[in-house]
Amino acid sequence: MDCWNSSSVIKKHVFDSLRKMDMTPSRHKGQNFLVDYHILHYQVEQAEINQKDIVLEIGGGIGNLSKCLAQDAKKLYIVETDRRMVGFLQEFMSSYSNTEILHGDAVKIELPKFTKCISNLPYQISSPITFKLLEHDFELAILMYQREFAQRFFASPGTRDYSRISVMMNLKANCIYLKTVKPSSFFPAPKVFSSIVSITKKEDTLNFNHDDFGRFITLLFTQKKKTVRSVLVNLIKRKSKQNVQIKKEVLEELSYLERRIFSLTLDELTKMYSDLKAKLGEELWLNMISLNTR
Ligand code: SAH
Repeated sequence: MDCWNSSSVIKKHVFDSLRKMDMTPSRHKGQNFLVDYHILHYQVEQAEINQKDIVLEIGGGIGNLSKCLAQDAKKLYIVETDRRMVGFLQEFMSSYSNTEILHGDAVKIELPKFTKCISNLPYQISSPITFKLLEHDFELAILMYQREFAQRFFASPGTRDYSRISVMMNLKANCIYLKTVKPSSFFPAPKVFSSIVSITKKEDTLNFNHDDFGRFITLLFTQKKKTVRSVLVNLIKRKSKQNVQIKKEVLEELSYLERRIFSLTLDELTKMYSDLKAKLGEELWLNMISLNTR
């Protein structure tokens, strides 16, 4: 990697650039810039970018990482929400003709097609951006998260961290915990530790609709400490107020009724999903999982 020589060169770049823009980093926008040469190096190395890669970076900031990514990729898209940084990046990256800067909120805009996503994510969008990325086809993502959030990807059923993102990540991707990163690797230093993870998409081997399953998981995990029976019975009651009559008897032959939602493994959840859907039939099923109920 020959984009930066040392941490002190990166720090100088960050300080000088902030001074030039006359701005202080915004906590609200998660502006903690990676100034640790070794970590930056590691992240780029893990990405193994080649001339075929279309790379997506979410939150370009002052271009610390962008500069390294642009050198190796066929194409680099940088999404940045802060107008001042967009202006700065346009100038800073102007010598890289393969780089395009998209001004907008990465959660809201339509993302371009990409083969790899390499980002130090602004932590406040961790959850929506992860769900969004999982809906795209890509080869590899090397992402930095707040450590507590990254740990949810690896949480086992029955533990406190096991949540909707654990299930969906497990369904759609293989995720590897690569490295813990200390606060002092950033400027300004955040209060929390960070983690770099690698994500590769699984082949869509399960023969079912992932969006539909995702909605079902959302419904279940908003009450994840309750039993399967009580969540489903409540749902049926709520639906009957809207004149959607679902007989409680359909539940009786289901498995796992007395288990708590957050104790169910991915296999158990997919089985329950398929069973329930088969029992209800398409129309009732769609009525049952439609989310305009709360
Ligand atoms: N990649 C840089 C910057 C990380 S800081 C580095 O490694 O140093 C995170 C960046 O994400 C900030 O520049 C912030 O302005 C930007 N950001 C925050 N919310 C965003 C959003 N919703 N969409 C796109 N960018 C966002």
